[in-house]
Amino acid sequence: MLTYQDARKRIVVETSQNRRTLVTVEKSVWEALGDTLAQEIRNDREYPPFDRSTRDGYAVRTADASEGAVLKCVGEIKAGDTVTNALAVGTCVQIMTGAAVPDGADAVVMIEFTQRDGDKVTFQRPTLAWQNIVKRGSEAVGGESALRPGSRLGFAELAVAAQVGAAKLVCAKRPRVAILSTGDEIVDVKEKPSRFQIRNSNSVSLAAQVRLAGAEPVLLGNALDQVEDLSSKIQRGLREDILVMSGGVSMGKYDLVETVLKSLGTEFYFDAVAIRPGKPAVFGRCRETFVFGLPGNPVSTMVTFQLFVVPAIDVVGGTRPRPLPLLEATLCKTLHEKPGLTHFLPGRFELTGISPEVHPLNWQGSGDIGALTQANCFIVVPADRHDIPAGEKVSVLPRLDVI
Ligand code: AMP
Ligand code: MG
Repeated sequence: MLTYQDARKRIVVETSQNRRTLVTVEKSVWEALGDTLAQEIRNDREYPPFDRSTRDGYAVRTADASEGAVLKCVGEIKAGDTVTNALAVGTCVQIMTGAAVPDGADAVVMIEFTQRDGDKVTFQRPTLAWQNIVKRGSEAVGGESALRPGSRLGFAELAVAAQVGAAKLVCAKRPRVAILSTGDEIVDVKEKPSRFQIRNSNSVSLAAQVRLAGAEPVLLGNALDQVEDLSSKIQRGLREDILVMSGGVSMGKYDLVETVLKSLGTEFYFDAVAIRPGKPAVFGRCRETFVFGLPGNPVSTMVTFQLFVVPAIDVVGGTRPRPLPLLEATLCKTLHEKPGLTHFLPGRFELTGISPEVHPLNWQGSGDIGALTQANCFIVVPADRHDIPAGEKVSVLPRLDVI
């Protein structure tokens, strides 16, 4: 059986080799958070465009401003001021953060290390050439690439786009992810279930996870555990970039998802992964669509989505798959798990002292979504570990939405 790491690799390989051509859309720089850039953005000029002071203080010639030197202050330069005059030998000029350093000056001395008396400034420390100045062109060269196609647009990337004047950005259209739950016992959220029915929470959590991952959910409702209904709803899903299903992939007599996918000509890349929860997870391609069959227990659905569907959304959406953001924390309670599978257990990650700690939470297994509302991470218990004593360092997988 594949490890979850190998399953992720397989997903990245298959989606990279077989993805459809990207469709692009134009987005305002204000609206493009989480989008993937589909064009090159170039620097419209060099950055900084002038020698920039990084401190409030005095612009000086290094040779004039040795420790104990006294210089005459001949003016002031604010951020945004047009600077034309060179600094005369034996003088200094007051300068603010973000202002242009005048020609002739080659250092800025922080105001904290000076003393002023009228127009006389005394320098209290030795001055080093180019201290507190970012030289013109040292951050970015005019005409060179500022952002490459495939960049995921976070706040820093959007700031760079804004800096170079790219108010409109050509982005990849967000992948469309069809969501189909399965099960005879499932009723819509708006309905009142009978005693033996349950509401469709998986479609809601999946839609939320799809959005968080940067894709667009397409809701297909629920399919009964019957070949005809499954087949027609799956075929509807095959119009989208990715189809994610929940339930119907275990060993039960009415777990028909794989059978129906097979009859529709699906090529399967895996149909089990050595994890718990989530072992029966299925990944394949049917016609042009990547298909995931995730186990229906709500926590299994959530874990397998984060492990497996997120990298597929990344690649299909034209960007590099983000790495799993595993953190390390000290375990607060001894764990006993059966070896053989990598376990993902709900935990509470906290940083109250010097180093992070993680508290395992009580839960009733992978149907217990209530327990997950207390959790902000999953504790990753490696397949070869039986007991992990309290005090040992463990890996934790943060929940995508709360850490
Ligand atoms: P399955 O993977 O189809 O065997 O389902 C496993 C468990 O998950 C069963 O207890 C189901 O009732 C539950 N389940 C399946 N689908 C959903 C859903 N859409 N929402 C909430 N629970 C579900
Ligand atoms: Mg089922």
